[in-house]
Amino acid sequence: LCTIGWGTWTPICPAGEEFGWRSYFSKGRATIVKAVLDGKLPMNENLANLMYRCILCGGCAKQCQTNFGDKALDIYEKVREELVKAGIGPMPEHKKIGEHVKNEHNPYFEAHSNRLSWNQEALKLPSKAEVVYFVGCTPSYRQTNLARATVSILNKIGVDYTIMSDEWCCGSPLIRTGQTSLAKSLAEHNLKVIEKTGANTVITSCAGCYRTLKNDYPKFATYDFSVLHIVEFLDDLISDKKIEFIREYKKKVTYHDPCHLGRHCGVYEPPRHVLKAIPGLKLIEMKANRDNAFCCGAGAGVKSAVKDLAMNTVLRRLEMVEQTGAEVLASACPFCNRNFLDGVKVYKGKKPEVIDVVEIVDQTI
Ligand code: SF4
Repeated sequence: LCTIGWGTWTPICPAGEEFGWRSYFSKGRATIVKAVLDGKLPMNENLANLMYRCILCGGCAKQCQTNFGDKALDIYEKVREELVKAGIGPMPEHKKIGEHVKNEHNPYFEAHSNRLSWNQEALKLPSKAEVVYFVGCTPSYRQTNLARATVSILNKIGVDYTIMSDEWCCGSPLIRTGQTSLAKSLAEHNLKVIEKTGANTVITSCAGCYRTLKNDYPKFATYDFSVLHIVEFLDDLISDKKIEFIREYKKKVTYHDPCHLGRHCGVYEPPRHVLKAIPGLKLIEMKANRDNAFCCGAGAGVKSAVKDLAMNTVLRRLEMVEQTGAEVLASACPFCNRNFLDGVKVYKGKKPEVIDVVEIVDQTI
């Protein structure tokens, strides 16, 4: 495992930590990619193997001095797109996911007809509303506790909301693996369905959906509503004193910044404001937080195709969690929490309780 002997510096690159070679850290990776872009190295399977062994966490775009500066993440995503266009990428696991998303609109090899199995009441919601709760595939099929907690909060607060009866995958797993043309058709479908609701706000409890709706959809089409992660929505309501906490949460909690929410979208403070507003809760920061947070290891197709990297990365992050002394690990992304839950099963140290910020709010209001 990781030997974390930090001074003021904390590790940032999960791929570099895992494989050790310079080519996996951003500096070497950027040098290789630049050579490919300059035509000095071929675009081949070796490049694909290197590029799909990166979690696209964006840590290097913040910390490392490479040829690409803060554009490193965009360029690494673009290289994946080019690998797919050249017929070299994505990895076989990603291809299977892409085919399933095309047919059943989710990456979990589930039937589209079961998307709302977690909440049959959703079909009774009005077809028009001010707010759409974009549930996402992970809360719909795997972390259904998060979808239920979100709906419970919306009901308790009395939000005028609806859930799309024909929501499709947001496209994040495809965009991150370079399968962009298929993702465009998903975006077009979802935008058409959202528009029909007349909503002025879309909220989501998934960091991956959030980044995709907010940052990627505008590249495909224009839309006329605002996109909020639920932690931003809750933070605003708490500031306006529209949420009343009626129970305490007397636990020490540390917060994990999901890359899609934090580094990719700059949403660092709203989840912390929400946690700090909960009576009894003590927030303890990990040393690697905000811009310097260490990824959970799940993203960019790594959990499906490079399983050891995903697992060893989450074990490294759990070591950082344990160093805080917190008994609870809260995040704001169901995909991060999915990887944390898998990691906790094999982690040898003290295992934290893994929960979403939204679930803590639901338990205390
Ligand atoms: S995006 Fe993350 S995993 Fe990929 S090279 Fe940069 S720091 Fe490493």
